[in-house]
Amino acid sequence: MIAAAELIERKRNGEELAGDELRELVLAYVREEVPDYQMAAFCMAVWFRGLTPAETHALTEAMVASGETIDLSALGRRVVDKHSTGGVGDKASLVIGPVVAACGVPFAKMSGRGLGHTGGTLDKLESIPGMTIELTHDAFVRQVREVGMAIVGQTADLVPADKRLYALRDVTATVDEVSLIASSIMSKKIAAGADAIVLDVKVGDGAFMKTLDAARELAEAMVSLGREAGREVVCELTDMDQPLGHAVGNALEIREAVETLRGAGPADLGELVLSAAAHLLSLSDLDVDADEGRRRAEGAMAGGEAHAAYERWIRAQGGDPSLDALPEAPVVREVPAPEDGYVQSIATTAVGLASLHLGAGRATKEDEIDHAVGVVCRAKRGDRVSRGGPLAVVHARDEAAADRALADLTPCFRLGPTEPEQRPIVLDIVH
Ligand code: URA
Repeated sequence: MIAAAELIERKRNGEELAGDELRELVLAYVREEVPDYQMAAFCMAVWFRGLTPAETHALTEAMVASGETIDLSALGRRVVDKHSTGGVGDKASLVIGPVVAACGVPFAKMSGRGLGHTGGTLDKLESIPGMTIELTHDAFVRQVREVGMAIVGQTADLVPADKRLYALRDVTATVDEVSLIASSIMSKKIAAGADAIVLDVKVGDGAFMKTLDAARELAEAMVSLGREAGREVVCELTDMDQPLGHAVGNALEIREAVETLRGAGPADLGELVLSAAAHLLSLSDLDVDADEGRRRAEGAMAGGEAHAAYERWIRAQGGDPSLDALPEAPVVREVPAPEDGYVQSIATTAVGLASLHLGAGRATKEDEIDHAVGVVCRAKRGDRVSRGGPLAVVHARDEAAADRALADLTPCFRLGPTEPEQRPIVLDIVH
């Protein structure tokens, strides 16, 4: 029997644990030989004491070993993947996947659901009528071979340790610890099989990482875990001090993703997509650098190949790619600006929560999502607005929900008399 209490005590006292001790703790937890209360105490000890790089590596390896892994070698290609640490209005994967696939690089991604105020790619995809996000491992690999890409949900047998640990961390105030986040994300990426991964580490009010320094620390930890597992990883640190693009809410975000694929999307989303696609192509087997990758990605968007790849992918998973098929909310109301001014900042978490309260996210695990509702931020940081002009547009199920969203959203936009300094969407890159 594992001496869990002793491991908790040693970690609490700041000792470094051996790799096989951490491995045994994680595997015993998954076998239900260690109860939640001991694992919760262990996570809290880690939150206060942190993990050394060797411990973080051992924890990640143990998480990968807790379940099945996907072997993509049968594709005979370098397969790429992309992951974001979670933000508000982040529909980038829905654009990056088709762009990369249109350039001839296999893209294989397993995604998650919305968490707290952040949206999840799977919830967005499920607003497309007919779309399935549950594929067996064999069907996932087959689709990547035949269609060039797949984005699906994680199967229950992929890193089961993370499923249990994440749920536990979520309710014990232990999510925001760098080693725990790095091992959680990288164990899933390593188990999902891709050779090269671009990670988008969000920074700012709407992100888990509030400062550039914290984001850089997380990025460095993840790059190093990837390298130890034989994967190439590039981390982009990107701005989450305002929602990405305009749309926040599932079907609204699908619409904006398709507009972006056609080259008519918001500038910040377009730039983030091109930057990530450029890195993914440079890590692929096309033998191009990031500049040439960017040119090819731009070409695929301008020439319509990226949009065609999107339609092929959605059809392959049973969905209807037509925008007319997406659900629409019955009540649409503008949020008027209370005065003239420039938008100085947007309370991004609060915008995410306003969208969640409209029904676009879950307040509890059991909640059903309303795919039609959400918020479209018409004004972004630096935009000039006139009194009465629209700051945002609310898409609601009924008038009462729209009233509440209006009240929630008006204070989210801080206005001022002068134009604020502009900030690029990609803040830094960690290799
Ligand atoms: N996303 C994850 O998958 N895990 C974390 O710990 C945080 C964000």
